Amino acid sequence: MLLARASPAFLPSTSSPTPSSQTLPPSASFGRSQRTGGSLTAASPNCAVRRPVMAAAAAAVPAAKLEDAEALIDSVETFIFDCDGVIWKGDKLIDGVPETLDLLRSKGKRLVFVTNNSTKSRKQYGKKFETLGLSVNEEEIFASSFAAAAYLQSIDFPKDKKVYVIGEEGILKELELAGFQYLGGPTDGDKKIELKPGFYMEHDKDVGAVVVGFDRYFNYYKVQYGTLCIRENPGCLFIATNRDAVTHLTDAQEWAGGGSMVGAVLGSTKQEPLVVGKPSTFMMDYLAKKFGITTSQICMVGDRLDTDVLFGQNGGCKTLLVLSGVTSEQMLQSPDNKIQPDFYTNQISDFLTLKTAAV
Ligand SMILES: [Mg+2]
Repeated sequence: MLLARASPAFLPSTSSPTPSSQTLPPSASFGRSQRTGGSLTAASPNCAVRRPVMAAAAAAVPAAKLEDAEALIDSVETFIFDCDGVIWKGDKLIDGVPETLDLLRSKGKRLVFVTNNSTKSRKQYGKKFETLGLSVNEEEIFASSFAAAAYLQSIDFPKDKKVYVIGEEGILKELELAGFQYLGGPTDGDKKIELKPGFYMEHDKDVGAVVVGFDRYFNYYKVQYGTLCIRENPGCLFIATNRDAVTHLTDAQEWAGGGSMVGAVLGSTKQEPLVVGKPSTFMMDYLAKKFGITTSQICMVGDRLDTDVLFGQNGGCKTLLVLSGVTSEQMLQSPDNKIQPDFYTNQISDFLTLKTAAV
């Protein structure tokens, strides 16, 4: 399904990325990925310095239990919150969140909400916040579905090229808003391949990027289609919204995350994806530029070490781990854990009580 282009009014124009012949054929004219010390870096044309995204800072200092919330609040101008495990759990708001956000807003802090979940667009997330009784502007929400579209715009991805999507509705909606032509997505969810003798699968030679995100309707058709585009279309990009190993579709167990779909395409193409969600710094660089803030003035708040805290550290932010999601204090303090946030606390509503205690 191809859609008409919309005006890409919400993104800044950017310079061209630095060329790299490491992972793309010489004919590629848009978008790059680059390895730094064995780690994939997001090709971020907005950022002069490319930072590794898959490795924590060396010699991590053990995290401190947050005691003076007021001092932390006063030391930054922006808080970036992960959503699941920080703001809500599934469809249930975490206790004290509205009051905490109100407190931060009353102190003039900018609030931004970042999620690796690509199944929803920013508009759809806005509705979820609304349903939970939270007043959050669409402009304050950065989902990895949006990051994929924003990345393509940042590299001036040609409008006459198409994007093949392995993923759900959120990616399609953001691509449409950004004015890109796309195909795939849920439409290909029930397609099957009949391996008759001589069967040959056609693919669109105008596909210049394959975007892979979490997809409950993932199938062999999609893997084959994406593989053909990446392997046979010169310069075709392989973009991942995230590589999360697991996700929490239900609160009963962990489910295979977006990393499993990305891994399938990686397996068949032997290409590393360019990751636009956490812990890649693309979204951090993007919002720092959008709001005109330096990353040292940001505190990243999340419940995961390998995405949220690493995302904050890769971006040069202060980091706060909350124990209201997937990470327990035991996991944080395990000798096997190499990722240490600056601070940790039980949940963000501790800002309220810690403030009272400090007065
Ligand atoms: Mg989370």
